[in-house]
Amino acid sequence: MELRKDPITRSWVVVGHGEEVSRPVEPCPLCPATESGQTLLRLPADGPWKVRVTPHPAPLYRIEGEVGRAAEGIYDKMRGVGAHEIVIESPVHVGTLSRLSDDDIELVFEAYKRRISDLKRDSRFKYATALKNQGPAAAAEWTHPHSEIVATTFVPRRVLYELRAAKSYYEEKERCVFCDIVRQEERAGKRVVDTQGDYVAFCPYASRVPFETWILARKHNYQFEAPRAESRRKNLAALVGRTLRRLEQVSDAYHMVLHTSPNTNVPSGHITGYWKTISDDYHWHIEVMPILPKGSRSYALKEVYFNAVMPEDSAKHLRGLEPSL
Ligand SMILES: [Zn+2]
Ligand SMILES: [Zn+2]
Ligand SMILES: [Zn+2]
Repeated sequence: MELRKDPITRSWVVVGHGEEVSRPVEPCPLCPATESGQTLLRLPADGPWKVRVTPHPAPLYRIEGEVGRAAEGIYDKMRGVGAHEIVIESPVHVGTLSRLSDDDIELVFEAYKRRISDLKRDSRFKYATALKNQGPAAAAEWTHPHSEIVATTFVPRRVLYELRAAKSYYEEKERCVFCDIVRQEERAGKRVVDTQGDYVAFCPYASRVPFETWILARKHNYQFEAPRAESRRKNLAALVGRTLRRLEQVSDAYHMVLHTSPNTNVPSGHITGYWKTISDDYHWHIEVMPILPKGSRSYALKEVYFNAVMPEDSAKHLRGLEPSL
């Protein structure tokens, strides 16, 4: 297994993973009674755990070793070094993140935060984040509620695009593009799904799929893992819970990804200028992409997204749904 860089798009691809070895799903390795693997984090620290983090049994990236960046003629490659962990969101086998109490969702986010901060202490990793695939259509590996933490020696392509765009917007206007988006969306209102405290959930202007929803803070911060007041943590958990409960009424499968800033502890040698203004120009956020049942033309065709539903209509529909637990 190695990582290869496409010289045109500059994206890194994991090749030769050779996966699809069958993994035990019975008995469930994420249940407390049958738990396996090292415990990287457990919350709360005492008593029975509510959230537990363990290394992925078949990781896409491996924690040991040097990055081994090398050239192969004009091409670049490196070893599949990184971290791949599972966040077990609940000791209960049946359920979803959205059905947890706000306090328990907050605990899952606390686990994201602590693992991301911990992995960012490793200067080999340029990026660390959390993501979640729910439902078979999203290729969830276990039915037990879980998400993943991934740390990589490169910045994923979409985040790199965001960083470049945010930096050039900032250079021109001396404002954060994400803060500007939140302000304009709130003023217009038509794509806003829900709000709580300082947090806003809305369908982005150029949504790639029907019901795509982003969650952003009104208050600027580039790092998800930055310390946050308790009331703000509660508001974020509550808004994410409600948003997912709305989305699950249109699709039970979704991808959720956290976009936070890259690791600023990396020696900045080969990192381009975005480091200097990153705390001002980048703004962490959560993106949720529901996977609609067949018949949706929401797939990327020839690299252009065709979204059959206007984001304003998606937001209106989501607003009308009952989000209570
Ligand atoms: Zn289980
Ligand atoms: Zn901002
Ligand atoms: Zn993003």
